[in-house]
Amino acid sequence: MKCYYLKMETPPRSIINSPNTKDKLFNTYKTQLACYVWLIEDNFNRPVNRGYLVYTRSKSKLVNVELEEAFKQDVKEKAAAIIRIIDKNQFPKATPYKKRCIECTYRNICIK
Ligand code: SF4
Repeated sequence: MKCYYLKMETPPRSIINSPNTKDKLFNTYKTQLACYVWLIEDNFNRPVNRGYLVYTRSKSKLVNVELEEAFKQDVKEKAAAIIRIIDKNQFPKATPYKKRCIECTYRNICIK
């Protein structure tokens, strides 16, 4: 996925290289958009409360995504938690939802 921030007046757009199936907004896409918004807010000192997802495999369908302050704050807290994990060289806690482990990239090295 790539982000193209076109103009100062334009909210960020995240290019999604997968179909927009069932009109479901995946949390990962919204989180990525929130990261772009975070960068824009910090670098241009202006509030941004929405962005767009462009689904290139669904005829470039454009989806407007509202980014609430609570969601943006949650993304920042998760980023801080990731930095703490890296700084302390610790493994994060295993998920209590074992179905997630089935297709996890890290299952061969996970200490679960
Ligand atoms: S295998 Fe993956 S999803 Fe499961 S606990 Fe480990 S890191 Fe989390």
